[in-house]
Amino acid sequence: MASPAAQLPPGWAAEWDATHQRYLFIETATGRTQWEVPSAGTEVTDEQPMASQAPVAHHSKRRQYAQFASQQATQSAYYQPGQESEYINGPAYGQPQQGYVQGPVDQLAGQFGQMGMGGQKQFQLYTTNLLTSPPEPRELYRVPPEIRLPPNSCISPSPFANADPSYKRCTVNAIPTSSSLLSKAKVPLALIITPYRSLKEGEEPVPLITDTVIARCRRCRTYINPYVQFIDGGNRWRCCMCNMANEVPQLFDWDQVRNQPGDRWARAELNHSVVEFVAPTEYMVRPPQPSVYVFLIDVSHSAVQSGMVATASRALLENLNRIPDEDERTKIAIICYDVSLYFFSLPPGSTDATMLVVSDIEDVFLPKPTDLLVNLAESRSALETLLGRIPEMFKDNIIVGSAMGPALQAGFKLMSPIGGKIMVLSSTLPSLGAGALKSREDPKVLGTTKESALLQAASPFYKTFAIECSRAHVSVDMFLFSAGYTDVASLAFLPHYTSGQTYYYPAFNAGRSEDALKFAHEFGEVLAMPIMLEAVMRVRASRGLRMASFHGNFFVRSTDLLAMPAVPQDQSYAIEIQIEESITSPFVAFQTAVLHTTCYGERRIRVITLALPTTSNVSEIFASADQVAIGTLLANKAVERAVTYKLEDSRDYIFQKLVDILVSYKTNMTSGGAGASAQLAISDNMKMLPVLVLGLLKNVGIRQSAQIPPDIRAYSQCLLTTLPSQLLIPYIYPTFYSLHNMPPEAGTVGENGVIMPPALPLTSERLERHGLFLIEDGQTIFLYVGRDAVPQLVLDVFNLPNYEALRGGKTTLPVLDNPFSQRVNAVIQKTREMRRGVYYPHLYVVKDDGEPPLRLWALSALIQDRADVLPSYQQFISSLKDKVNGIGGGY
Ligand SMILES: [Zn+2]
Repeated sequence: MASPAAQLPPGWAAEWDATHQRYLFIETATGRTQWEVPSAGTEVTDEQPMASQAPVAHHSKRRQYAQFASQQATQSAYYQPGQESEYINGPAYGQPQQGYVQGPVDQLAGQFGQMGMGGQKQFQLYTTNLLTSPPEPRELYRVPPEIRLPPNSCISPSPFANADPSYKRCTVNAIPTSSSLLSKAKVPLALIITPYRSLKEGEEPVPLITDTVIARCRRCRTYINPYVQFIDGGNRWRCCMCNMANEVPQLFDWDQVRNQPGDRWARAELNHSVVEFVAPTEYMVRPPQPSVYVFLIDVSHSAVQSGMVATASRALLENLNRIPDEDERTKIAIICYDVSLYFFSLPPGSTDATMLVVSDIEDVFLPKPTDLLVNLAESRSALETLLGRIPEMFKDNIIVGSAMGPALQAGFKLMSPIGGKIMVLSSTLPSLGAGALKSREDPKVLGTTKESALLQAASPFYKTFAIECSRAHVSVDMFLFSAGYTDVASLAFLPHYTSGQTYYYPAFNAGRSEDALKFAHEFGEVLAMPIMLEAVMRVRASRGLRMASFHGNFFVRSTDLLAMPAVPQDQSYAIEIQIEESITSPFVAFQTAVLHTTCYGERRIRVITLALPTTSNVSEIFASADQVAIGTLLANKAVERAVTYKLEDSRDYIFQKLVDILVSYKTNMTSGGAGASAQLAISDNMKMLPVLVLGLLKNVGIRQSAQIPPDIRAYSQCLLTTLPSQLLIPYIYPTFYSLHNMPPEAGTVGENGVIMPPALPLTSERLERHGLFLIEDGQTIFLYVGRDAVPQLVLDVFNLPNYEALRGGKTTLPVLDNPFSQRVNAVIQKTREMRRGVYYPHLYVVKDDGEPPLRLWALSALIQDRADVLPSYQQFISSLKDKVNGIGGGY
């Protein structure tokens, strides 16, 4: 269901009206058009002019929607094979979520409510015993508990009026009215926000409001949204956050495109939770700046030898056309570095590039005032020449060492008057000048309390320089390729504080086509990404609620203003919320505003509003808890703890959080009370939380182990704190499929693309010696081959005579002329494409009796198994039960 068109009764078509940012519905037989969603067998009366009416005159719209909604409500809220779910690219933005849309009974209640005859439906609490109810992977694809707002809280009948969880979700969908109630429930309160998520094919773009009429509360600065109320005959609006009565702006009801009175009720900001405003000049400190990309390419011996320099140059050359440059203002500079800096003069209109070498790295200067940072379109020829020549220029470079810090300073000097993005491609540990680092990898420290020191920045340069960058609207991305220790932890600080991203390609060797392909693919996607520039983000909330702490890649400027020099797509942020004073309103709202410049030079504000009911009932907090959001928050908290304190503290913290929730549930919700209980109870909607916590405890970013290289840990921590839930959840709880006996439709194309096999619980009990399995976590794909796999299976998939002929390791699977090969390839391809983000996972063939390290790595994804000192799910649950009953220690 790509659009409302799919929901229409026969004889109707829907067409998106870009001007009004809403669907126009057309009765195909008569050509009659209307804004109302048509419903079968109901005569639709023309909508009266609404501009001067109060929202109470809105019944006809609501009734239409009720019938529209009841078609939706018959669908199951569960993931079904072949039916797309939130985690597998659906329901997209611009589509009503299942579960969000209220059923007919709720609709009726809503209508009675409007007539003063009824109220809000309560959350139903279902208790599960974790001892007898093992994890079921498809539970993770369930939509979060439905948001049940009181009647009349929303002025729009639109199914898009409340936030889609892929943009913004809360750990609970009913907000406790007091902090004491929240601490009684022990469920953490936080928002998970992905304000700038990418759109997959067929998804509706975010509605754009172009008339620069921006209604905001004059007290709390909230943007007008579907949860305000119009008063005084529609001349004023009451703010949903602070109750202030505000004037409706003069031109609010004027259609500037047609120059005639407009329909207020059609305005996107009153019907959509996610909207973007074109900002008038008062939102600009300076005119929108052009997009700037400065590439710092390590050309030292190891960088050249690994093939990184050649692959990066070629990928950049091939992707020049994809770099956003609609306004032809985009600027580019390329600086190569080893122990010296190599600048390139790229005069406009010329086909020649001149190299200028700067060897003084103590006091970095620019060798030339012009032509180093050039307009992409004007200097295109010179750029192409240069990129074609770089590999040749440095192919015999035997210089070892890296002046990355000075290169960063040089790049910063070039662009700091404008701002933009620095992309560093590094193969060696920085060894010279500012930011020089020493190898501090010490195997003796691993697994001890001193290990967390290796996860902190070794040099203050990476934080101070990051703050300097943030002030100048400069963001840094790190692409790290080293074969040896490269101190990912220190280097990742730059992306962390400048809203960039770290990408890591350990032991990169372009001689392996898989390595070259993965990097070129991901680098190309990053280059093509339409980034937001010069951004600041703020989250406002209803009275009584305060944004207390922030997790993710940005710099916190002035208490709650997050500075983000460049916002990449599909990066996620977690914000913890404090209840400062008791809340008396029946619902609250959270509004995220991201003021930014598009990469096409337009100043805009993206606004995302989420409204949630309040509750004074502890059972409703449990019944409305969103386990995926809680898991995402805990991943962020765990990393924060690991870096600030010790890895052990981080593990203890998340384990204790889980115990607290279970104890509270037992005390408040079961007859067991404070005594010992033979069961371990949790609300049904949170029953995957323990296995998510177990997955976190076993993740390489957190796991108790003396064998994880610090670079691998640090990179994993970057992922844990930036991935949106859709990518994070599989990274914590991987996906496991049995392929040799997958259902006949799996791997074939269905209504929603390739049909995936059903996911299995993550235990090796499901492995069969004659089978073929796929395990993936969004970053790596393992194809696990049982040692008794029949020759026909090996032949069909790998084009090899038998299991013995098969070799384990990184590979590209052949596409062969048989249906099974094609289905397996389709499943792998879908695995690579089904989530958002730029990642292109490597594929490893793992033989049942092959290399032990590879086998162990693959099997470590089966987190319900016991591994080394880490418990199986059964053991974990059993120790949880003891802990909840007040006996026994940790996990
Ligand atoms: Zn206000």
